[in-house]
Amino acid sequence: MSLDSLIANTIRQDVRSDHIYHVPDASGFVKLDAMENPYVLPSHLHLELANRIASVALNRYPVASYDTIKQRIRAKLGVPQGYDVMLGNGSDELIAIMAQACALQPAEGRRAVMMAPAPSFVMFQRSAMVAGMDFVGVPLKADLTLDLPAMLAAIGQHQPALVFLAYPNNPTGNLFDAGDIEKVINALGDKGLCVVDEAYEPFAQQSFMGRLPEFPNLIVMRTLSKLGLAGIRLGYMSCAPALLEQFDKIRPPYNVNVLTQAAAEFCLDHLDVLNEQAALLRQQRGELSAKLAKLPGVNVFPSAANFILIRVPNADQVHSKLLERKVLIKNVGRMHNVLANCLRITVSTPEENAIMLDGLTAALAS
Ligand code: PMP
Repeated sequence: MSLDSLIANTIRQDVRSDHIYHVPDASGFVKLDAMENPYVLPSHLHLELANRIASVALNRYPVASYDTIKQRIRAKLGVPQGYDVMLGNGSDELIAIMAQACALQPAEGRRAVMMAPAPSFVMFQRSAMVAGMDFVGVPLKADLTLDLPAMLAAIGQHQPALVFLAYPNNPTGNLFDAGDIEKVINALGDKGLCVVDEAYEPFAQQSFMGRLPEFPNLIVMRTLSKLGLAGIRLGYMSCAPALLEQFDKIRPPYNVNVLTQAAAEFCLDHLDVLNEQAALLRQQRGELSAKLAKLPGVNVFPSAANFILIRVPNADQVHSKLLERKVLIKNVGRMHNVLANCLRITVSTPEENAIMLDGLTAALAS
């Protein structure tokens, strides 16, 4: 039996022609490519957490209601009264669940459509493909703001079931205008859901969470990843209870494991520590932006996230020069026309920022 024909006979064509999501090996690098928080917990908290984890019953499935952790999230993260949350193995899983829930509309006789501005977080489009949705990316304007007339026209034309707006957007780092987002939500009405993806909320401090009661078709999604817990993989989302119930039918029952649950509960009890780290990073974002703006030939875009987008004369060259110096940033220059020669840099500690700045200065001079 040939493995090639076995795969051709069994695996979907669109999956066969796709590629695996590439994550570069970063060992030994100053890692500024993935918007991680560079700070760890203070050592006394690490020890306490280790004790807590040691007492977790690994032989048991997680308690499927996830009540304790959901209660902490609702109480501490601004979820409005009467609104529940759904947890995911990172917000990546929640995106996939929403895509699966909206994918098929057989009564309409067509594939359902997901829409997002372009460029935006790549997992939106990937999840659409896997779920069997069509994806429509609406280009941002040259200044990287939302093209509202184009969005509204595309909504009218394609009638998307699901629109994702990252707030702030990745990889551009900017916050779209809140009034424009409202207009998108209203234009969708009862024909489409609008997910405001607030992965970077700790750095933007602007949110639609409190506005859930105003918009029945609004879903607010967040993650603990950027707050300093990328390794535990915990995302959450909230929306009208009857809608959340539909997504919950697709969620695998034990999707958040006991170790993640224990670590997240512990960290939410010490949210002040993570919030202080976010405040430090917001301050460092300002300092780093100012230093980047002084480099000849560098154009710095405004950021409300924990990363900064810059444009340089030759992004490929600068990126590889930085790699030679063991500094890993993200070259997004070929992702979309509006990002030509752009690089995305995670804001880190003053020490790591300085190493990156030295490397960048040298790369620009060569
Ligand atoms: N949304 C956006 C806008 C992101 O940039 C990211 C991570 N890069 C995610 C969601 C995924 O976060 P998580 O780690 O929770 O899967």
